[in-house]
Order: sequence, then structure tokens, then C-alpha cells
Amino acid sequence: MIRQNCVYCGKEITQRSREHVIQNALGGLYESTDICCPQCNNYISKYIDAPFTKIFNPIISKIDNFSKTNNTKSLPPCTGKVLYQGNLYNANIKGGRVVGCPELSRLLRCDATKLPLQIMSYDFNLNNSEFQNGMAKIAFNYAIDQGIDFNVLKPGLNVKKSGDNITSIQFNYKILPFCALNPLDLQLELHTPFTLYHSMILFGQNNKLWCYVDLFNTFQYYVLLSDQINEVHKVYSSYAQTLQKPDRTKPKLDIHRPKDISIYAIQYGVEPCADVAEFSRRVYNAIDQKSQKTSINNIISPKIQSISLNRFLTEPKDMRELLLFGQSMKLYFNEYDQLNTNAFRTMTYDIDARNVVSYPEYVNYLFGKDTKYLKNYTRAKFEILNYFLCQKQK
Ligand SMILES: [Zn+2]
Repeated sequence: MIRQNCVYCGKEITQRSREHVIQNALGGLYESTDICCPQCNNYISKYIDAPFTKIFNPIISKIDNFSKTNNTKSLPPCTGKVLYQGNLYNANIKGGRVVGCPELSRLLRCDATKLPLQIMSYDFNLNNSEFQNGMAKIAFNYAIDQGIDFNVLKPGLNVKKSGDNITSIQFNYKILPFCALNPLDLQLELHTPFTLYHSMILFGQNNKLWCYVDLFNTFQYYVLLSDQINEVHKVYSSYAQTLQKPDRTKPKLDIHRPKDISIYAIQYGVEPCADVAEFSRRVYNAIDQKSQKTSINNIISPKIQSISLNRFLTEPKDMRELLLFGQSMKLYFNEYDQLNTNAFRTMTYDIDARNVVSYPEYVNYLFGKDTKYLKNYTRAKFEILNYFLCQKQK
């Protein structure tokens, strides 16, 4: 069904405009033409998206081959901390280079950018309303595009108008930082190779409509879109995409034995055949077809291979943790190591209750009790991101 009226101003949509569910400036590829009118789209991009995407400048300016569709040449400036002779200083950074360090320049009375400064971390300002609004907008857009009735989402949307003109749009949905609450999630998030991706999971649970949003595999939040949904209609959908253009370089295929064909066939997911020329064509075709759009399963499932079980076997561990790890494996993965998508990030195992519980509600419960654990998790995720950003040289 095509929406007749704009969700913001209510006017009839006479001209379709493309709205990026995850902002285009963040590499978001998912577009919808079924949300709003071009005027409101402009308002959103100017007043909601622009201040929100600015927060991610350290990542945008550092990623090679970033998949944005516009502004590929401009590298946005950002700020961070640099190390010089054992001390940290605030610095202005552009494209991975220090372009200003006023604090140190003043101290040493010289141009500090000429000194060997090592970038240690980048600043991300998440405690502002721009961040809240931007995250909530992503969840709202995804829900609308997935066909959630606008009336369900309406209570959290605050639109102010003066006459015919929109003067303010606010997405007042509760947002809750995600925190890994079982040893399997901790392993997946903190101890497997870091890759950049965006994902979203929209799900209904106990009369609540949640959207889990993960940007750059670091900014992970639950957005509560409604606490009054009808349980009868099961809601579940998910989206995932990688952030860098897939590598399409075509390797020279070394085919000497029939076995080589089987190995390449599995590696590239193509049908094997004995004709080497035809087989090569199939492999190269598969490389051309590689897409940034993928699934949460394709991202998470390969990570199990790199989880080390040694730490459970060699270190004298608390039996509770081992049990919880096993229960979480059973909850998330099937016997072929494929993700049970309905359970992943929507539920977790509560060891005291010996039962499966709602993930966001459990996070919320712990948030009121022990913020230290949650803060440590967030800090660990940011350390990984900063390590990635500071390592990678253009
Ligand atoms: Zn409108």
C-alpha cells in the first residue's frame, strides 16, 4: 500500500521523495519513498540529519572507499586526543591528520602539528538531543517503511506547525543503550575481528514495539517505539549492510586438480563444473554480484568460528558463566551455526530465573541497578572503534 499523506505535515504526497532510513552521509543504502513529502524531507535532512551525522565525522573522514553517494571528496573535520611525550592533548583532525593542536602549540610556542603526534582517540558527543533525535528517527523510518501503522508511532512524534509551515519535528521515543548481558554477546562484540556495519532489528514483544539500531557496530541502542501494540500481529524484520564497498578484485584462479574447483565453488558460493573457462566465468560473476546489503546472519554467524572456547576450559571459571554461555549458544544459533534471527538481540538468558527474558527489558532493569557494568561495556566498544580508526592509515 502506498501512503497518501506525509507522516509529518499530513499533506497529500503529490511528489515522491527518497528518504534514507539510515542517513546517506553515514553510508546508509536503505531508501524509502513512502514516508514524507519533499518539503518535510528537506526539513529533516537540514535539522535532524545534518547535526546527527556530524557526530560521526571521525569515522566518515577515516574510512577508505566509503560508500556515500555524494560528497565523496570532502573530508569533514573532527576532534580527538593526541599523544605527545607521554601526555594527551586535544586536537583538530582531518582525514586522519592533525591539523591543529592549539593547546600544545601554546605550551611549546611552536606549530605543534609539525611534531610527531600520535592520534589516540576521537571524540563522539552522544549526550545531546541531536543524537537522540537522529537515532530515534532511524527507528521511526524503519518501522514506517516496514508497514507499522502510523497511529502506533504517533504518540512519540512531536510536530509543531505555524500555519502551513513545519517549525519543529521531534522524535520523543525512549532510547536505551545496548549492553552485552551474556558471555556469548560479550565474545561476539568484544573478542571477534571488528568490521564496520549497520544493522536494525524491529520487533514486537510483550505489547512493546522495539527497534534495535546498531551503527558502525559501535553505537548500539534500543528505541522503544510504542508500549501499546497488539500482540496478535507478530512483528519482526531485520536489516544489515556493510560499510565499505566490497572488494571486487578478481584473483587468478589456480586450478590444477578437480578438488580446486570444489574449494573455489564453496568459497564463492557457485555451482562447480568441469569446464574451467565456464567455471571461472561463474566465479567472476559472483565477485561482481557481491553486495553491501547482507543479513545479520551473514555478519554474525561467521564470527562463531573466531570465538575461542579455550578461556572456558583453561581458566578456572565460574560454572555459572559456562552454563550461561551454553544457554546463549542454544538460544542464538541452530545446529548448523546459523543465527536464530528471532532471538538474536531480542532475548537473553537470565541465569537466576533459568529462563529466557526480553533483552531490552533486562537492560532497562540493570540500568536502574548497576550503571558501572553498562558504562564499562560502552567504553570497551569505543576503545575497539578508536583502535580501528587510529590504526588505519589512508
Ligand atoms: Zn510533509
